[in-house]
Amino acid sequence: MSKLMTREQYNEYIKNYAGCAFCHYDEDQIILKEFEHWVWIANIAPYVPYHTLIIPKRHFTEFEDQTFKEAGELLSVLHFAKKKLLDLKEVDRVVHFWRFRDENAPVEALKIPHFHLNLMPDKEGSWNPILNPEAYKTDIGVLR
Ligand SMILES: [Zn+2]
Repeated sequence: MSKLMTREQYNEYIKNYAGCAFCHYDEDQIILKEFEHWVWIANIAPYVPYHTLIIPKRHFTEFEDQTFKEAGELLSVLHFAKKKLLDLKEVDRVVHFWRFRDENAPVEALKIPHFHLNLMPDKEGSWNPILNPEAYKTDIGVLR
């Protein structure tokens, strides 16, 4: 794997993929830097330019499934990757997030959720499409 794809190309590629593409990162991903427990890779079908992923070498699902050793190294990995992105002239801030993909994922290979932290350039207004103008009406007290 050496080239980025459109989302359509990626959906076609991943449709017939057997197993977990992140467990086979050394064959099927574009590696930017490898660490002891983590690998910084390109998102091969990026949402935006320079969209990258930080994945654990060990297959786990949820953020809180990581070990203390992995968590400790993740801080260094994040620091390294953020600095590399911020060194780019066209990037002045970044955002990172993770989200769970499960049995509702659109294709088989995505139903095997291997934790991945998304790290990509951010800009003013980029989260506007998900803003809910009614959010302030939420009864936040139910979380106590
Ligand atoms: Zn995996």
